[in-house]
Amino acid sequence: MTAATPPPHDGPPPHDGPLVVQPLKRRHCAECRCGPLPFLVMEEGAPRCLDCADLGHLVFLPRGVTALTRRARAESGLSAVVVRFHRRRGRYERQGVLVEEAALARAEERCLADAEARRRRRERDARRRAAEDVRFTAAFAAEIRRLFPGCPATRAEAVAAHASVRGSGRVGRSAAGRALSEAAVASAVRAAVRHVDTPYDRLLMEGVPRHEARRRVRAAVDATLREWRTANGA
Ligand SMILES: [Zn+2]
Repeated sequence: MTAATPPPHDGPPPHDGPLVVQPLKRRHCAECRCGPLPFLVMEEGAPRCLDCADLGHLVFLPRGVTALTRRARAESGLSAVVVRFHRRRGRYERQGVLVEEAALARAEERCLADAEARRRRRERDARRRAAEDVRFTAAFAAEIRRLFPGCPATRAEAVAAHASVRGSGRVGRSAAGRALSEAAVASAVRAAVRHVDTPYDRLLMEGVPRHEARRRVRAAVDATLREWRTANGA
């Protein structure tokens, strides 16, 4: 057999350590006769149980979590690949690995530490974004009150909070500065007045086309904005 010859049934290459098979049929250990065997090792054409094959101290780690498997095998002095024959596909397929229990525990700790580190970083990011949102909202509300001194403070804050959500989520933080332009602030206030202080939303619900609905409420919106631009705020 040359190096290029695949192992029987295209099993994994032999440098993965001992090859352990999950048998499809009821098999018993050729040495100690125990069985049926959940795992076996073929030695000289005969099945051996894990104990007889000196692998009985290893624990099974099913495939699925790649990082855990990689680390557990790296931590384990002795490990074995577990395969099962897939009849329809006509080949052996990897089911997991057998590793030392202590190695698995260390690997799990490392993966948990990674997950914990990621969680802490997410929390820091969330706190930073929240602080940015608070600053942005305050700046936006202040700009509204500067341009519309007659706008009630609660309304200014509501408009700013809404704009902040859009700023942080939809258009990104880099747009925050642009969003504070006079035109953008006026546009946000105008939209809020249209939705809250006029029947605009009801007209839309009744099926009035958007431009027609806007036309109908324009005078009311303009009146409120004029009032807010000049009046002394509440
Ligand atoms: Zn045995």
